[in-house]
Amino acid sequence: MIIDSHCHIASEEHIPQSFVDGAIANMIALLEAQKINLRREKIADLYHQKLQDPLCDELAAEMERAGIAKSILLVPDFTWTLKDSRLTIAESFERHRAVLARHPGKFEVFGGVDPRWGADGVSLFERSLTEMGFRGMKVYPPCGFSASDPMMFPFYELCAKHRVPVVVHIGPTSPALSFENSYPFQVDEAARRFPAVNFILAHGSISFTEECAMLCAFRPNVFLDISAFQMSLRREGTSGSVRAAVSRGINHKILFATDWPVYRLQGDQQSFVEAVTAPDGPLADVSDAEREMILHGNAERVT
Ligand SMILES: [Zn+2]
Repeated sequence: MIIDSHCHIASEEHIPQSFVDGAIANMIALLEAQKINLRREKIADLYHQKLQDPLCDELAAEMERAGIAKSILLVPDFTWTLKDSRLTIAESFERHRAVLARHPGKFEVFGGVDPRWGADGVSLFERSLTEMGFRGMKVYPPCGFSASDPMMFPFYELCAKHRVPVVVHIGPTSPALSFENSYPFQVDEAARRFPAVNFILAHGSISFTEECAMLCAFRPNVFLDISAFQMSLRREGTSGSVRAAVSRGINHKILFATDWPVYRLQGDQQSFVEAVTAPDGPLADVSDAEREMILHGNAERVT
């Protein structure tokens, strides 16, 4: 059994064009260095084609083929910072609620609200837990705040009350945003103040790996997900980042994750599951019990 603990709806309704343009700029820099001449419009079109799944039908079909029983849809709130967002965060929540209703049992949703929306944002987040069936929170510090900013505490109090986890983005992102607040130790104060809330460091096997592993080892309520391991796949052909993460004695803290649809141009969900679970892959030296924890047990316990 496999649970994918980090996905997003593949739709430009929730991912602003400025965010996508930043990713394209990095791809162009890479291609130009390799003297590969691919026009910007062509790359933009490839991205556009992979972001046409607003109801998660394509994702559900890919999960089926890949043997993924359930995926967690995360909703970062870009709407305060990126003014080309097409929907308000409340509208975005409603679309996610529709996906839950369309695919019963296949998805969970963790909603995010930029803390600068103030009391309205806190009450929207509370309603997401009490009325919309959401089961956690997504925090996106590159939008311009620390995960331990006191503005976040009312949200964490709700997470403690409703016993739901918080996923925090760690490391770089689209160059449309600041990388300044993406350091894992910025989660430490929140994790210490809210011991009843589990904090999951997104991309913790590939960004600031030393710091993420340290927090997982010594804060009982800190975990990491392996999403973006595909970057090491591209560099090395195998997932060295996952192999390194699972050798640190923190396998009770590591969650399988793909970050769909970010790596769709690189492979499908089945290829990513195979890259992690292959007999000679990064879990080769991990015990059966720990393998089960990474692929689903930890996610079941935390979420
Ligand atoms: Zn993500």
